Parts: sequence; structure tokens; C-alpha cells
Amino acid sequence: MTSWPTVNLAASGTLLPFSEQVEAKARVDFAAAIKKYAIADINPDDVHIFGMRFTSSTTNAWWGRVPPDAITEMCARVPGRPLMIGHDKSQAPIGKFFAAERVYRPVSPRAPKSESYHGEGLFMLPRTPIGDHQAALIKTGIWSESSTGWQALDMLCSICGNDLRGEKCLHLPGEVYLDGGLADFETVNIPHVGEISVVYGGAVRGTHMKMAASADGSFDASAALAAGAVPEFLAMRAEKILNAIGGNTVDDWMADLLEAAATGPGYPMPQRANVAEVICSSDRFDSAQEAAAWCAQHDFRSGKMSETSEGWSFEQQKGAGRSTRTIRLRDGVQAVVKVAKTPSEKNDHSAALAGLLAQQ
Ligand SMILES: [Zn+2]
Repeated sequence: MTSWPTVNLAASGTLLPFSEQVEAKARVDFAAAIKKYAIADINPDDVHIFGMRFTSSTTNAWWGRVPPDAITEMCARVPGRPLMIGHDKSQAPIGKFFAAERVYRPVSPRAPKSESYHGEGLFMLPRTPIGDHQAALIKTGIWSESSTGWQALDMLCSICGNDLRGEKCLHLPGEVYLDGGLADFETVNIPHVGEISVVYGGAVRGTHMKMAASADGSFDASAALAAGAVPEFLAMRAEKILNAIGGNTVDDWMADLLEAAATGPGYPMPQRANVAEVICSSDRFDSAQEAAAWCAQHDFRSGKMSETSEGWSFEQQKGAGRSTRTIRLRDGVQAVVKVAKTPSEKNDHSAALAGLLAQQ
């Protein structure tokens, strides 16, 4: 019976070397799929087989998230696609994917179900001197990370539900908002997966996605998500928001935001710089280490921790004398936000935004 190879848990964007037994079984189970993509009548023993986790439903380093249904869609696009090195399309492929499947593997015992789906693929390398060498690079862990070049038609903001590239959304992925918590976005409707590459650092911010701009610098709604340019995308996003509200500089924008906030409904005010505490519930996290890892993965400080009756609290920004609100960031994660009372109170997040723009 064909069964998907069970592998150790690994982060998204990683290569999965199998034991000899698992590889041998996969060679038998997937013989038809392997032969389907070969021009000549090859023997499955002629190839090395490896796995790869190429996507997950958890928030990625670039604040994108592929929901379970879109992972299924992505998996349908992967068989037959090439394995490349470093997204270098001037070079020929080194391998080929012949199967992909959505799997459910919680990253920790009590992780939310919605964050526990992954897309895994199986690919083959020929048993040739070069293929043997590349297989050795994977088995030794020297080649361990991957990155996917793909396309998503819709990128939906987790707070307002609108496409990030449209005029209606004024949220920055990665920011914290009093209404809606931590902003990220879902990538859905996947028409195409171009290739998957071995890269030097698949989990590193900036290696996963390219948001192409049209010649005039505006957003191209049909742009491919390929390797290389998340900072560019986020900078474009920040600039788009600045343009939308007519501000010329980050300081102008913050002034507009503060004014809007002071006069009633206005632009959503980024609150990351006002987060005093992140509280991780022991209902979700098994240990302080696991909670600290969540903080680090979501760009919160994890150095100063105190244990509470409900879990673990991680100190963020210092400061007192302002009222606070506790908001939900994720299932089992809350933030205590110091709420600015007057427009004159300085929000130092402008520095972070300036950094984003400087990367463009
Ligand atoms: Zn939005």
C-alpha cells in the first residue's frame, strides 16, 4: 500500500533525508509516479529519493500564511516541477518532484490545528556521479534548506480581509493593532508553482517571496511569489500606505495617524512599539522555551520572562503612566498594549518603518 513517508518534524522550507528503509519503501510505493516523469523506462533504483517540506500553515518569516486549503492547491501544482539551485533559472534543473501531499503534523503537542498543516513533496535525483554528490550534500545536512517560487492570486489581510495590494487595506503585516491583533496575510488561490530550489537559508527573512512591481512601481496583482525580495515587498507596502494617506514622510504619516486616532475613526494605528508584555498561555505552550520560541519567531523580545499562574509573560517595551489594553494576538497569546492617550505622545515605530523604506 502506498503511504506517505513519515519523517521527523522539521521547519518549513527544509529538505528531509530519509533512512535507507524509508527511501527504499518510497521507491516501491511511488514507482509509477517516478516512471511517469522519466522519458526512458527507468528503474526506480536509478534515483535517490528525498522529501521536502515546502510550505506550512503557520505564519512565515515574511508574515504570510498559506491556509490548509491553499496548501492542498499548492500540492496539486508540485508534481512534475523542477528542483533547482538558488532559483538560478540560467541553469538546468538538478532534480524533479514526482509527488506532494498535505500533511497534518502539529509543531508542538497543543499547537492550534489551523497552524499544523504542511505541504511536503518527494523529489528524485539521478544516481549519477553528480546526483550521488548532491545526494551526499543533502544527507550530510550541507544542503538543508529550500525555497519555493510560486504564485498566489490573492493576499488577504488577517485583520480587514482585503487584499494587501488594494486601496482598502491599511495594515502592515507584522504590526500589532488594537482591533485585530497581530497582522499577517493569507496567500490563497495558487495557480502556479514554478520551481523549488535548494538555497543557503530558506527560513531567512527575504528568501521566500518576490512581489513584482510593474514598470511604474505600482503593484502587479498577478505578481509571482518567487525568491528574493520580501523587504522590497514590505517597503512597497509601507510606501503604498503612505501614498494612500497623502503623507510624504514616515513622520508625516505618524502625525496623520495620531491625528486620525485622536479625532475618532481613522487610519489604524500600529501598536507594536506600544506592546508592554506578551503573555503566552500554558493552555497552548508546554514550556517556557516553547513560548519564548514563539516570541522570537514573531519578532517579540523573549529575554525577560516571568512565570504567571496562566503561563509566561515576556517583557517588551518599558514605560508606565498610560492605560493598557489586553488584546489577542493568536490562540493562546495575548499582548498588553500601552494605549497612547494624546496625539503628542511619540510613537517610536517611525524608526522601524523608516528601516523598511530604506531597504527598498
Ligand atoms: Zn488590512
